[in-house]
Amino acid sequence: MGKIRSILLVVFMMILSAFSFSYEPGSYKGEAAGYGGKVEVEVTVSKDRIEDIKVLPNKETPFISSVAIERIPAMVLEKQSLGVDTVAGATVSSRGVLTAITNAVKAAGGDVRELRKRVPAPEIKKGNREYIADVVVIGGGGAGLAAATSAKQNGASVILIEKMPRLGGNTVLAGGAYNAVDPKRQKAQGIEDSVDLHYQHTYEGGDKKGNPKLVRILVENAYPALEWLESLGVTFKDEVFTVLGALYPRSHKPTTPVGTGMIIAHKDFAEQNGIMIFYETEAKDFIVKDGKVAGVEAEDAKNKIVFNAKKAVILATGGFAGDVEYRQQFNSNLTENILTTNHPGGDGSGVKMAEKIGAKLIGMEDIQLLPMGDPVTGSLSGNIETTVEDRIFVNKDGRRFVAEDERRDVMTNALFKQKDAYMWVIVDSKVYPTLETKNNFNEPIGDLIKAGRAVKADTLDELAEKIGVPADTLKKTIADYNKCVDAKKDPFGRKLFGIKFDKAPYYAGPRIPTVHHTMGGVEINEKAQVINTKGNPIPGLYAAGEVTGGIHGTNRLGGNALTDITVFGRIAGENAAKEK
Ligand code: ADP
Repeated sequence: MGKIRSILLVVFMMILSAFSFSYEPGSYKGEAAGYGGKVEVEVTVSKDRIEDIKVLPNKETPFISSVAIERIPAMVLEKQSLGVDTVAGATVSSRGVLTAITNAVKAAGGDVRELRKRVPAPEIKKGNREYIADVVVIGGGGAGLAAATSAKQNGASVILIEKMPRLGGNTVLAGGAYNAVDPKRQKAQGIEDSVDLHYQHTYEGGDKKGNPKLVRILVENAYPALEWLESLGVTFKDEVFTVLGALYPRSHKPTTPVGTGMIIAHKDFAEQNGIMIFYETEAKDFIVKDGKVAGVEAEDAKNKIVFNAKKAVILATGGFAGDVEYRQQFNSNLTENILTTNHPGGDGSGVKMAEKIGAKLIGMEDIQLLPMGDPVTGSLSGNIETTVEDRIFVNKDGRRFVAEDERRDVMTNALFKQKDAYMWVIVDSKVYPTLETKNNFNEPIGDLIKAGRAVKADTLDELAEKIGVPADTLKKTIADYNKCVDAKKDPFGRKLFGIKFDKAPYYAGPRIPTVHHTMGGVEINEKAQVINTKGNPIPGLYAAGEVTGGIHGTNRLGGNALTDITVFGRIAGENAAKEK
């Protein structure tokens, strides 16, 4: 009896020590910085439990941050712990939500250190599952989703597997620019253009290293593919613009934030048409039977899963800019201190898988950097330029150093030669008439200023002081540039001119070089079939998007990626569905 009593006492002490604090019952607010601004939560506690967590209305970019906003509070509630993992692919938003909850819990009297003790994840034994469809698509970015939609529209049953907890890959993080020669919109703006000119810009802009047949398919199908997206519910603004490195005003901007428009449209189509999407499911290897790709071996957190493809597999796993070691095999200069715009899933796993079964890799050394990285994270977000015509770049001495409408590689190489490889993008208030006006990444300029990611000044002297450049030099730079706008002539060779800088307030935002896009990858032919090292198509295997090489040559034009993934995703889906 005495023994039982002492065991009970020990258990009681253990329970007591586990709850060595109690909350002050009530509701508490907490806030923190997220991906797109401030995140605020309201946490309700009883004496010994977190009872409820509400994320209050916020400016986080819908869709990109939604997994974090849903999952983090649910995990904290379930585990009654702050020691939960961030959601892959939404790290900044996850940390924002978690910090906001932590701040509220602290206010409620919770012992944050105790609550942060990580709850060990249960160990799950791996089992086996098996699925079958006509077409299996690997990767749920823009290319994979376009391929899935197209395969379905051509009568195939479709499975799509995505290794992250959300769709969209890098596509959704891009500014959303889509290049196409557009008979309606460009004409209304008085812009002369032609498919041949788009071809010339693309082919020559990549130093004539792209496959001319694929470039031709890209530019000829750009507008029909845009109309296809519109038929799926994507809406584009009436005016075209010039995105960074596009070389010409034929970039279309969706009416929805960043790259969310096309991803949501494809996701809706998938849900309405029975395309099965497996999240957090990573393709590991192809299954090859009698020389034909017949499926995919994959894994989720619990199981090994076999996906059998009756007709074909489509590889759409994106690029490899996010895998530092791998990218350095092709360009040793791209060390880890050069940040990237890529999401964590951009690790080239698909290229590696394809290489194992004999796919030919081409253009792997052609890796694109942008001069437009956030100095802290390398991300595209925070960029204050809205269109090439309306901004200039100045270095730490307050001087221009390149034609700001040049190719991306030309601008980035010029930036590397400046002090600390650091520059400021400058615009005036014609670009941001109010503090609520948003940049191309759905961020109001006022929020960027508050977060210290951009500065605002009422005079050029004040702007010079705030960005730490000599005022006289900056004023001369601006005055000289304004003369270039009038003369349509520039010593650096710039050709695209928009506003003159004369309407205060002025704005500036800092930028550095960042690794963005891998032009190389698996070789494909005009049908989007993957080519092997002997020059023949690999039966049963198609590819589209950034995982492929041979389209953009040494340098991809800004705004051509979304066109590429849509045009070739659609072609891959159609041909895969028509396989015997
Ligand atoms: P693209 O623009 O070519 O569509 P994205 O980067 O937008 O490229 O999308 C590629 C998608 O493929 C990402 O969502 C990424 O997480 C996913 N992915 C990458 N490797 C794998 C893999 N091995 N298995 C499943 N999904 C993958």
